[in-house]
Amino acid sequence: MHHVVIIGSGPAGLTAAIYAARANLSPLLIEGWQSGGQLTTTTEVENYPGFSKGIMGPELMKEMRTQAERFGTEFLTGDVTTVNLSRRPFRLTIDEEHTVEASTLIVATGASAIHLGLSNETRLTGHGVSTCATCDGYFFRGKDLVVVGGGDSALEEGNFLTKFARTVTVVHRRDKLRASKIMQDRAMKNEKISFAWNSLVEDILGQDLVTGVQLKNIVTGTSTELPCDGVFVAIGYRPNTGLFKGQLGMDEQGFLLTSQGTATSVPGVFAAGDVHDTEYRQAVTAAGSGCMAAIDVERFLESANHHL
Ligand code: NAP
Repeated sequence: MHHVVIIGSGPAGLTAAIYAARANLSPLLIEGWQSGGQLTTTTEVENYPGFSKGIMGPELMKEMRTQAERFGTEFLTGDVTTVNLSRRPFRLTIDEEHTVEASTLIVATGASAIHLGLSNETRLTGHGVSTCATCDGYFFRGKDLVVVGGGDSALEEGNFLTKFARTVTVVHRRDKLRASKIMQDRAMKNEKISFAWNSLVEDILGQDLVTGVQLKNIVTGTSTELPCDGVFVAIGYRPNTGLFKGQLGMDEQGFLLTSQGTATSVPGVFAAGDVHDTEYRQAVTAAGSGCMAAIDVERFLESANHHL
């Protein structure tokens, strides 16, 4: 039986672990088979305080994990397959094999990339379709690429891909970007980047490899084909909360609802990071809420009624 179990190994989960470990709560962190969260699929992180020259996402996560380990966090690699939050101690099953009991739980399961939902997108994933420029950009030296989306992710991916690609066309469904001003300025100044405004990707073309996309202009209603060698989909993220459906309060998009800091609808269960953040979704805000969740756990356990 653990005082606190943390699910998730992004900035939220690892910061919660650092704080819980330093509060002598001997946290168990379940890190999933893909440890480190979304930052492991990003390139340079320029806005995480403390790194004036920037730091690569995977390096930042490695540092956070080492820091959590240093204070005695126990790590378990595996995916949580079921949770029972109906009474304390909470019971979790990992990879349908081990069972873990937890007096309190911090949910820091983050969010995953959203797909366009086209059948050819699924068929051609790994054959020209990707959601991770850091992972796959290298394979597109001298190629023509499409990035779908108008947020920070799309422009970050687009900028990064110009290191390899000949051209990058950012396809966006409106005529205004959602991305931050600095990312917009950088993309506008990049000679390799152009924009297809008011455009939806209707289909991804190609037999064995991507050869183009079919775009529909939503203002004129016309469809055109744009030849390309790769399509990077960067249209946002969905919270990873399927496990908790029916057990924790969530909004219609699946983000966990919290009140009084990081408390969820079940006493003793706390949420940190992108899993409950519909507003900010930054590495630093995730880390901040991980810290808050660990402090909330400590206070919860200290209150006489909640000691198991
Ligand atoms: P986002 O801000 O939600 O943007 C998603 C973009 O995809 C929007 O432009 C949206 O269009 C478009 N989109 C959504 N569904 C679509 C669909 N079905 N078809 C076509 N286009 C679609 O997501 P994000 O860019 O992943 O960013 C998420 C959060 O992480 C943000 O808070 C962002 O600031 C942060 N982030 C920060 C950095 C950084 O600071 N370096 C880097 C990456 C992400 P509309 O605009 O029309 O809604």
